[in-house]
Amino acid sequence: MKSQQFSASKILQNYNLCENCTRRLILKSYTKKSPKSRKSSKSKCYICKDVFDTLDSLLFNIYEKIDTFDFKTFNLGLTLKNSYLERDDHIKSKFKIKGIENLKFSISNELAKKITKKTKSHKIIGDPDIFLQVNFKDDSCVIRSKPIFVYGRYNKKIRKISQKLKSCEICCGIGCHHCNFTGLENIESVEGRISYFLKKKFDAHRIQINWIGGEDQSSLVLGNGRPFFAKIINPKKRNRLLRKSSDLDTVYLSELRKLSVQPKGSIPFKSEVSITIDTTKSITSSTLKKLLTLKNTEIINHAKDKRNNSKRIYDVHYKKLGKTTFLLDLFVDGGIPIKSFVQNSDLSPNISELLENQCVCKKLDFKNIIV
Ligand SMILES: [Zn+2]
Ligand SMILES: [Zn+2]
Repeated sequence: MKSQQFSASKILQNYNLCENCTRRLILKSYTKKSPKSRKSSKSKCYICKDVFDTLDSLLFNIYEKIDTFDFKTFNLGLTLKNSYLERDDHIKSKFKIKGIENLKFSISNELAKKITKKTKSHKIIGDPDIFLQVNFKDDSCVIRSKPIFVYGRYNKKIRKISQKLKSCEICCGIGCHHCNFTGLENIESVEGRISYFLKKKFDAHRIQINWIGGEDQSSLVLGNGRPFFAKIINPKKRNRLLRKSSDLDTVYLSELRKLSVQPKGSIPFKSEVSITIDTTKSITSSTLKKLLTLKNTEIINHAKDKRNNSKRIYDVHYKKLGKTTFLLDLFVDGGIPIKSFVQNSDLSPNISELLENQCVCKKLDFKNIIV
C-alpha cells in the first residue's frame, strides 16, 4: 500500500494531469482518498491536453445536429489522435497501472452522460436508434440513424411508367448537365414516386426498394397491387406515422406498414396475368385448345441452370379476340418471364412453339400478385 501511494505521488510530481485523468489513473487504482491533482493552470494535462474542457463546445455542435433526429437510444464512437492513447499507455506501463478504463472510454462516458441528461435518451450498445461518430481530430460529428423497413403494395393505374429508376444514359449515374446532376434519367417511375414519398415522410437520405417481381413500362398493376419492401436509409424522423394507403397520383400505395426487422431472402409469389397476344398466322378455336395443356405444367428455363427453382403454371384461360389476336389469362409462379414465354425462347413449353405460330405479346397486365 505504501509503495502504491508512493507511485501515485510520483506520477503527480512528474506529470501534469487534469482532474479527470488523475481520478481515472490514481483514485481507482491506488487509493480510496481522492488525491488532488497538482496541475498548474498554465500547462495542459500531459495525457489528454485538457480535452475534457473542450467537450462543452463540441457538445454544442452535437446537440444542434442531434436535435433534428427522432431517437430514444444512442451509441457513440470516438476518433482520437493516436498520441493521446500513446501517452495514456506510457504512463500506465511506466507506473504499472492495470485494470482501469482508457482515455477514450473515459471521454466517451463523459459525453454519453451529458447527452443522456440533455436529450433524455439512453446509451445502448446493441442496435441503437442513432450512432454518433465523434471525431476529435477535426471536431466533427456524423450521425447515422438505424434504417426503418416499410412493407406495402402498389398499383399502377396508367401505362408508360417504368417500375425502376434508370441511370442517366449520358453519365451512367455519375451526374452531368443532362440529368441535372441527379445521375438519373428524367422518367416517370414507380420507384421514383415511392422513393420521393418515403424520403420526404421520414426525412431520409435514400430509399432502397426490394421488389416482389417486376413489370414492363407498358404493363398495368391491378388488383391488390404488387408488394414491395423499402429500406429507409438514415431516417431523421423515425416516429412519423405511416397511413395504410397513399395516393401518389399515377401510383397508388396500400397495406403500408413499418416493419421492425428486414425480411430475409427472396419471397415466393404467384401472379395473375392477362396477356393480349398477336399471332403471325391466323388462329382457329381448335388450335387454341392446345393452350389448356399448359395447366399444371412446369416451365423449364434452358438458359438458366436453376434446378431447385422450378416454376409452374397453375391455371389457364383464353379467349379468341380476332383472326390473329387472343387473350390469355394465366395464374403462374412469380419470376416467369412472360414475354419470353409468349414470343419463343429458352423456355419450354412456350406459346409460339405450342401453337406453331409466331406470337407477340401485345399487352401484359398484372391482375393480382399473391404472396
Ligand atoms: Zn487529462
Ligand atoms: Zn447524367
